[in-house]
Amino acid sequence: MQAKQLEISRLASVAPPTVQAIIDGRLMNAASGKTFPVISPIDGAAIAVLPECDAADVDRAVTGARAAFESRRWAGMPPKMRKRVVLAWAELIAAEALELAVLESRDMGMPIRMAEDLDIGFAVETLRWYGEAADKIYDELANLDDQVSALIMRAPLGVIGAILPWNAPAMIGAWKLGPALIAGNSMVLKPAEDASLVCLRMAELALKAGMPEGVLQAVTGGGEAGAALAGHMDVDCITFTGSAEVGRKIMTAAAASNLKRVSLELGGKSANIVMADAPDLGMAAAVSVDFMFGHQGQVCEAPTRLLVQRKVRDRFVDEVVARADALRIGNPLDLANNLGPVVNGSQRDMILGRIADADREGIRFALDGRAKTLPSTGFYMAPSIAVSNNPRCSLAQEEIFGPVLTVLEFDDIDEAIRIANGTRYGLGASIWSSNLDTVFHAAKRLVAGNINVNGGTGPVVELPFGGFKESGFGRDRSLHAIDKYCDLKNIIIRSSR
Ligand code: NAD
Repeated sequence: MQAKQLEISRLASVAPPTVQAIIDGRLMNAASGKTFPVISPIDGAAIAVLPECDAADVDRAVTGARAAFESRRWAGMPPKMRKRVVLAWAELIAAEALELAVLESRDMGMPIRMAEDLDIGFAVETLRWYGEAADKIYDELANLDDQVSALIMRAPLGVIGAILPWNAPAMIGAWKLGPALIAGNSMVLKPAEDASLVCLRMAELALKAGMPEGVLQAVTGGGEAGAALAGHMDVDCITFTGSAEVGRKIMTAAAASNLKRVSLELGGKSANIVMADAPDLGMAAAVSVDFMFGHQGQVCEAPTRLLVQRKVRDRFVDEVVARADALRIGNPLDLANNLGPVVNGSQRDMILGRIADADREGIRFALDGRAKTLPSTGFYMAPSIAVSNNPRCSLAQEEIFGPVLTVLEFDDIDEAIRIANGTRYGLGASIWSSNLDTVFHAAKRLVAGNINVNGGTGPVVELPFGGFKESGFGRDRSLHAIDKYCDLKNIIIRSSR
């Protein structure tokens, strides 16, 4: 562990390897020459300067992606060759896993273990999985009558724009890159301005792995670049993960331009239902705290509403508070720390504003993170736990995307289901009970794309991921994701005999 910590410290002083946009296989600055600084939330220091791409750069990237698609140098490549490229790419990323994890941690504050195992590790696993799938997917044949048969083929859409959030960019990026690329599309990747460095390096490594120039472009910048991609007349599909607010803008831009397809993975307010007959209340408390606070609550599926059956509420909340209070907060590159900073100063101010609103609503905090002494530089926050008996209160309704948990109570499972379904979101839900009947009853009625029972599992590429209601539509991960990046085409063949 000490050797690893020393290596992490060494890597933390290495300059980011890729700090330009990648268009047509070349590293480039914005045509305007504009740049923006990359500020580390660890200490507020600038660690890089990136091109601030605008509509002109996005247009260059889309033109390059279209040319690559039309040339068929990727779309026309045998799937087994695409497989080799994607697998080689995954291995190049794996070979730099710790370097990339340190870079991610410096860029947006994710604790180093999580950055290594979840963000980079799962990105590698995802690319391996889709790489392997590339040459194992077949299409359909329909025999219509004795003379006529039809091939029902998946055809790649063409140019896919992927717009990413900052909270786990390598992993979420891979969820989009893997299926879209193995299907033969070309892509323009637009990482978030708060977390671009790892994505840029991944795009550069794709070229090293043998991905033809122009197949994967990466443009840096913020809303201006994203909006230009969403409104571009020659982009066939936008695959987006981020806030509901920006998701709406993307749908509007798609409708106002070329009716490009859109898939949206948006926010959540996931309910975590703890019944008194949970198989292990101690484990339920431990998992709930890790899942909720692990990345400072900056996880779309984080179980931000803890619904506890009234008869065990006080006991369970005491345990959750004790565990959350014991988490060590500090530099995310220190292996001994559990939590790092939140992503930036304005996010911290927004979260503090939500807590102040709750104060004004008279909501009681069983744990008030504001009382904790924290590092004086950087954007650190400690976990807060509010206890309310009003499921409609603002803390229980609005996504905060920070370390603020709201505890609610209920008497029976039907009341819990009503509360759980009583938000505009529908991304995740959890239930803890040893009664199979209760579990199935709840799981069938909960409106959520991912339901964990008695701990379930962390993210896995084998399962589709996405939400209901205002959590968006379309699914990342699993073979289902490939369908987002293809359309069906019939080739109907008549024999003359
Ligand atoms: P955000 O919506 O602010 O930004 C996401 C991306 O959209 C960024 O790359 C940004 O530059 C870009 N963008 C901004 N304005 C745009 C515009 N007008 N047109 C096109 N693109 C534009 O989200 P964020 O703050 O990066 O991430 C946090 C949000 O993401 C939370 O709501 C969280 O729940 C959600 N999220 C969802 C999932 C999921 O899978 N459902 C996963 C992670 C995060």
